[in-house]
Parts: sequence; structure tokens; C-alpha cells
Amino acid sequence: MRALYPGSFDPLTNGHLDLIERASSLFGEVVVAVLCNPNKKAAFSVEQRISQIRTATAHLEGIDVVSFDGLTVHCAATHDAGLIIRGLRAMSDFEYELQIANTNRSLATELETIFMAASAHHSFLSSSVVKEVARFGGPIDHMVPAKVAEDLNRLFNSALTPLQP
Ligand code: ADP
Repeated sequence: MRALYPGSFDPLTNGHLDLIERASSLFGEVVVAVLCNPNKKAAFSVEQRISQIRTATAHLEGIDVVSFDGLTVHCAATHDAGLIIRGLRAMSDFEYELQIANTNRSLATELETIFMAASAHHSFLSSSVVKEVARFGGPIDHMVPAKVAEDLNRLFNSALTPLQP
């Protein structure tokens, strides 16, 4: 069955990648769907995020990376996905994720949401924490795939570069 893994992925972390790898071995085909939300200021454009995910998942079969706006249930229908994957890192994720899952089921009864537990060694990882560490020059190589680390370093180094007189 084809699974949809929707998210902001701004940027992709090793926690996201771990979920994609595990979902891929469980479900065969995974559509990673990058949410394009014009109301939320993102560090990376949708095109950059798609490229980061494509590079990081190049070793896997059956991964498609797309962008979407609007409802996740419409995106699932467009890509013929029968289930939605979401990750749970801690109880703090649970309430929000349950609300979204129930909302989605009320909109599309046949669409199941499957929660996957974050691997313990990735459960502290979030895109925002990674950006915070990168912004202040901390090491991020153990948190994100190589291309994402490069992009983050470029983003924040250029932000720190003083303007030429
Ligand atoms: P969103 O804005 O939709 O929450 P994210 O990119 O932050 O997008 O997360 C997408 C999904 O991946 C969510 O279900 C989130 O709980 C899950 N996720 C985020 N970080 C991790 C991680 N370190 N391990 C496992 N799942 C994660």
C-alpha cells in the first residue's frame, strides 16, 4: 500500500529520515509531501526542501517527494495513498496529532493514520531545534543528512557575514 508522509520538513532531520526508511520497509511506497504554507515563514523554499529529501532518500526504492497546499486528505487522494504516517516523539506530540488524525478521518473515513514511535536516539530532534543550533554555530552533523547540514551552514553563515562597506 502507498503511504503519505506529510510535514513541513523545514528542514528534513535524521528523525524524519528514520521514519521514511522504516515506513518504506513496511509499506513499500512512500509519498513524502512537503507542505507549502504561505502563512508560515520557512527557512528553506519548498524546492530546496524537496531537493534535500530527494538526496537523502536516494538509496531507497519507492519514494516519491511532492509538494502540496490545502488539505492533507486531498493530497492523499491525489497521490492514491491509503494511509497517512505521522511520527510521535513524546506525549507533547500526541494531543495535536490525535486531533489532526481524527479531523482527517472525519473528512475521509477510509484514510487511516498510522503513528510511528520516533527512535529513542532521534526523539529529541526537531527542525526548529536543529535550526537553533545551526544559527549559533553548533555542530549539527549528527542531527541532519549531509546536504541539509551544508544548506544550514550556508544559510546561517551567509546570514552572519557582515555586509561589505
Ligand atoms: P509538521 O509541521 O507537520 O509537524 P514536521 O516536519 O515538524 O511537520 O513533522 C512531520 C512529522 O514528522 C510529524 O508527525 C512529526 O511528529 C514527525 N517528526 C518530527 N521529528 C521527528 C523525529 N525526530 N522522529 C520521528 N518523527 C518526527
